[in-house]
Order: sequence, then C-alpha cells, then structure tokens
Amino acid sequence: MREKYLLHCPGCGRLFPDRYTLDCPSGCDALLRTVYRERRLILQDLPGIFRYASWLPVEGRLRIDAGPVSYTSVGLARELGLPDLTITFSGYWPERGGRMETCSFKELEAQPTVLRLREKGAGVLQISSAGNTGRAFCQASALTGAPVVVVVPASAADRLWTTVPSPNVCLVTVDGDYSDSIAFGREVCSLPGIVPEGGAKNVARRDGMGTVMLDGTLFAGRLPDAYFQAVGSGTGAIAAWEAAERLVADGRFGTRLPTLHLSQNLPFVPMVRAWEAGRREIVPEGDMPEAEASIARVSAGVLTNRHPPWGVRGGVYDALAASGGRMYAISNDDARSAGRLFTETEEIDLDPAAAVAVASLIRAVEEGLIGPDEHILLNVTGGGYERAAEDLDRYPVEPYLRVRANEAFAGNVRDDIVSWLTKQGAAIRA
Ligand SMILES: *Cc1c(COP(=O)(O)O)cnc(C)c1O
Ligand SMILES: [Zn+2]
Repeated sequence: MREKYLLHCPGCGRLFPDRYTLDCPSGCDALLRTVYRERRLILQDLPGIFRYASWLPVEGRLRIDAGPVSYTSVGLARELGLPDLTITFSGYWPERGGRMETCSFKELEAQPTVLRLREKGAGVLQISSAGNTGRAFCQASALTGAPVVVVVPASAADRLWTTVPSPNVCLVTVDGDYSDSIAFGREVCSLPGIVPEGGAKNVARRDGMGTVMLDGTLFAGRLPDAYFQAVGSGTGAIAAWEAAERLVADGRFGTRLPTLHLSQNLPFVPMVRAWEAGRREIVPEGDMPEAEASIARVSAGVLTNRHPPWGVRGGVYDALAASGGRMYAISNDDARSAGRLFTETEEIDLDPAAAVAVASLIRAVEEGLIGPDEHILLNVTGGGYERAAEDLDRYPVEPYLRVRANEAFAGNVRDDIVSWLTKQGAAIRA
C-alpha cells in the first residue's frame, strides 16, 4: 500500500482512498475505519496531538500544541488503593502540559477534522453541538482560519467562547433543543459547499479521540487492563477500542484489549439500559423514558445524546462486547462528590462529565470489579475551566443568525447563510 492510509468498510470489506468519505459507497450500515500503512506506531517529534500523526487521517499538521497528557496518579490512587493508575487529561492544566484551552477532549476531534477536510475534501464544515464540540471547533477555526458553521440551541450559546478571536465562525442559534439544532444543521448542509462534520462516522474524529489510548499506553509502556470514560455518543469509547486494536497489532504493548468501563449520568442512561438488557437496539420507551425531562436533570449535559452509534456495526455495542466491558449509571450526587475528591487529590477542577467517569472508577473499586494489581487508564475528558478563566482571555462567539425551532430553511434565513458563505469565499481567495 503506497498511501499513508485507506478507508475500510467492515460491512462489505471494501478498501478505498479517502475523499472525506463518511459512509460506505455501497451503502453498508457500518462505521468506516482507517487502515494505516504503518502497523507500528512511529512517534513524530511534534507537540500535542500531531505526535501521533502517523495514525491520524491527515498528511500534514497544524501549528497547534494541544494534546492529551498522561501522568501517574498519586493522590487519587492512594485514596482508592489503586497503585497503578494512569490519568490521561484533556483540558487546560499548564503545570502538566495540558494546553486544550477550551477544556475538553473535543479538541482532539476538531484539529484532525479541520485538516482532513482541507486535504481530502473541500468546503465549509457544519457542526451541531450542545456545547463542548461547538466550542472546540470555534477554537480550531480561530487558530487556523478554517471557516465553520456551528448550530446550537440558544440556551447553549453562552458555552461558545474561544481564547483568541474567531472571525471565521458562523454561529446560528436555534430557539429549541439539541434535536432542533441537528435538524437545522442538516438543512444548512443542503447548500453546496457546506459539509457535515459527520459525528461518529468521521474517522478523523475517532482517530483524534483515540490518541488518549495511544498517549496513556505510550506513557505507561503497556496497554491498560481497564479503561474508564463517561460517554454521551460513545464515539470516544469506539475510538479507544480501535486505538487499542492497533496497539495490539503493533505488538509492543500487550496482546489483550483493555476492558471498557463506560458511564452515563442518571436519570438519562440509554446505553446502560440497553447493555444490561443485552440489546443491540436502544428502545426509546424503555431505555430513555421521558427523555426530555431526564435530560434536563443530569449534571453532565454532554452525556445526553439520544442517537448514539450504539448498534451500528463497529459501534459502541461492538466495542463493549469485544472487550467484555461494563456500564455504570451514576447519580448527580455521586458525580459531584467524585469531582470534589478528584479536585482535592489531584488539584484541578473537572468537567461534570469527567466527574461521572471518576465516580464510576470509585464504584468499580467498591464493588471489587477491578483490583489493585490492575493497570488502569482513567480518561479525564475535560477540566481546568477555573485555571483557564484565571489565565486566558475569553471571547464570546456572537450569533450571526437566530432562528426559531422548525424555521424553514428558505427566504432570508437561507440568503443570510449564503451571503456569509460568499464573504468567506472572497476572504479565502483574497
Ligand atoms: C463529549 C464529551 C464526553 C462524551 O464523549 P462521547 O464521545 O460523546 O461519548 C465526555 N466528556 C466530555 C468532557 C465531553 O465533552
Ligand atoms: Zn460497505
């Protein structure tokens, strides 16, 4: 194989070159995967995520130094009686080298996605998000000049800020919930030149998030026995599984896949329920009853995806099954006290979602599901907001357009986006 990587469909087995392809050309219901020419991970002498560029679906690099950072826990490890606990932190924590200034691991997805589109596709990325993903893409746009259209519920607009100005972001706020934003975002993608980010289908997103597993493993010199993460879509968990499979094939880090320990926030726990019932399908009535009301009650809003890639071939269900995984339902109270314990013992504040993962680790210890002889990797998916607020400038992203829920994508609304696109085109050509 001459190319650095090809895309592979686990449904039909086709292997083909990447054109920012999100779906199998034969229409299989399966997540495409990257296959890299280098079976052994060759580290690049670059800062941040591009250290792992040989296993990212990009040819070049961005001049951004943010990436995951791993270290051996002392405080939390002692508290839990786990002598072999590696923490991989994505967020802002300069003392440990954490330079994700929007404070979540969504930056691991945004960087390679922006670059992949520039290299393998063309156009302007569209992202629908309830918070962290949108902020990460605004920041990637601010740092690279890549134009992006971000659609969010109006109630989430104040979560969109960057640490440098972001003149190439078109922010649309929708007076409705996350599902309304997704629906409007889909309409926007009907315009020529606008490309959907793709969510779990986007291999750059998954391989970017997979660098957490790479970093934790390289740091410890071996694959972990157990991997802990809080999940909303579960894309990060699929990514961890895929990265672990590559590390097994590499041959230097062990032969066994880590057990995935994945957590959601009560009362919205559809994947926990489907897993406990042994089902490949999420059944809305049983697995997420009164979804709207439940979503309103969780402390970690980023964990409330109603359409996770659960049953699709190569999705979260397969990832759990392949590793003999477990799922945990965590209450707000348990998440809050776990967050407090983490801050006391490790001295950094957490994203509420990361606190859910810490609570699941505490539960696993209490229930004897993991032991002191096991090597644990805890994926701290976000944190350092308080540190970032002290150190960094914060630029709110101002809405370019406000629309009602179910507003037709026509007339002035459409014209406004077209005129933004035209200006972007002119600015890019100039
Ligand atoms: C998005 C997010 C998650 C969940 O990740 P998924 O890949 O959607 O499962 C967990 N923690 C934080 C901080 C996040 O932003
Ligand atoms: Zn296929």
